[in-house]
Amino acid sequence: MDKNLRIVIVGAGMGGLATALALAKKGFTDISVFETASNLGFVGAGIQLAPNMARILDRLGCWKDIEAEAVDIKTTSIRQGSTDGELGNVDLRYIRETYGYPHMVGHRSSLAGSLYEGCKKEKAITVHFSTAALGVESWGPEPILKVQPRNGEAYTVEADVLLAADGLKSVVRDQMLKDLNINAKVMDTEQAAYRIMLKREEMAHDPELLELIDADRVIRWIGEKRHIIAYPVSNKQIYNLSTTQVDKNFASAPSATYTTKGDKSIMLATFDDFCPMIHRMLSLVPDGEVCEWKLRVHSPLPTWVHGSVALVGDSCHPTLPHLAQGAAQAIEDAAVLGVVLSRCPDSSPESINKALQVYQKVRKERAEMLVELAAASGRALHLGDGAAKAERDKQFALLKEKKGAVPDKWADADVQKQIYGHDCMKVAEEGFDELFASV
Ligand SMILES: Cc1cc2nc3c(=O)[nH]c(=O)nc-3n(C[C@H](O)[C@H](O)[C@H](O)COP(=O)(O)OP(=O)(O)OC[C@H]3O[C@@H](n4cnc5c(N)ncnc54)[C@H](O)[C@@H]3O)c2cc1C
Repeated sequence: MDKNLRIVIVGAGMGGLATALALAKKGFTDISVFETASNLGFVGAGIQLAPNMARILDRLGCWKDIEAEAVDIKTTSIRQGSTDGELGNVDLRYIRETYGYPHMVGHRSSLAGSLYEGCKKEKAITVHFSTAALGVESWGPEPILKVQPRNGEAYTVEADVLLAADGLKSVVRDQMLKDLNINAKVMDTEQAAYRIMLKREEMAHDPELLELIDADRVIRWIGEKRHIIAYPVSNKQIYNLSTTQVDKNFASAPSATYTTKGDKSIMLATFDDFCPMIHRMLSLVPDGEVCEWKLRVHSPLPTWVHGSVALVGDSCHPTLPHLAQGAAQAIEDAAVLGVVLSRCPDSSPESINKALQVYQKVRKERAEMLVELAAASGRALHLGDGAAKAERDKQFALLKEKKGAVPDKWADADVQKQIYGHDCMKVAEEGFDELFASV
């Protein structure tokens, strides 16, 4: 394989940056990333840093900085939102020993920033900010991408391989589906999320709130069709809350709208029957700073690959956040792309296409299984009164005797084994020759 292959990546989100870094670490020398935004942006939100993500970040050389300010989670508590009464408590301390990395939580800017710092150290990587991909002009043998700098003329870029990590609203995916005559679309989940970050000093006056930010614990407060997940980040200087509720505010909005400034009174009313402690936290959000996200997914894609072009991350497997695996799966994609392209025997378009198909074989089934599982976990958490909820709560009751599965799937040991115990790079390395021969 010619390591001077021209690699073009669309999007400098978690998936795009991790892909650039994974390829640079494998010795590729010519990697261009095109990003619409003028910088990395600042999403005020936390993120769970699961061991399967940490393992890859460590190999890419950027885990240490993230770990330094992340919080090492020891337990998770699932509680009734209305009463704060505990339904289940799961000890997560075994994770570090079993999977080699702890389950940590951190600030998104720490994850994105460390990936970007890693990219900046690689001579091979150039990130072109303020430059949007307009579309693919040719799928191969050498793909051609048209890009539009914010203050300049549009131009085309020829690549040997084009990787589209342009997120849920991917223009490359939509164009690929059209070209392949596939009818698949972004889907409404009828769920939306508020993302809230409270500063330590805002909570310090309230002993109950101080206890929350000081604990090494993820809490999920659940109720019918709603929940709140919360944990401390940034060395416990910030308490991060992320909610899920029925989408009302976006339902009538144009489909391009994904985030909006929410109305604080509507947010408070949504969690009206949750306990007073939660209300005290929600009340701390300044008026005008309520940020609501529409949660969308995509109908299944028959393929992620077209010629020498492949989709990465949310562009091909957007997920509900209930398993906390969206970014982790984008980073797994990146790591596997690094393996398959470096193992590709030569740089002919035919071989590159086969290597990308190996990537798809290693990644697609797993990512799609986790998308399904995230949706199922959300359904179990959001149950209203009835037989299914009674059954779920029986499972929670058994947990107190340390028996059975955890209905909140990310905290279940068998699910953790599937997710954290899977080393996607090892799978790609070990299976490459056989898979390459089979596609
Ligand atoms: C409420 C919530 C909580 C979550 N919690 C977690 C969690 O705890 N753990 C976890 O692992 N995941 C979590 N996720 C999921 C995670 O945020 C996403 O899966 C992840 O960010 C996807 O990364 P990406 O790089 O594929 O896409 P994105 O992060 O969307 O990045 C795409 C990039 O492409 C750029 N772009 C788009 N179009 C173009 C274009 N035409 N030209 C150039 N650039 C373009 C965008 O500006 C953006 O920078 C959560 C998501 C939500 C909504």
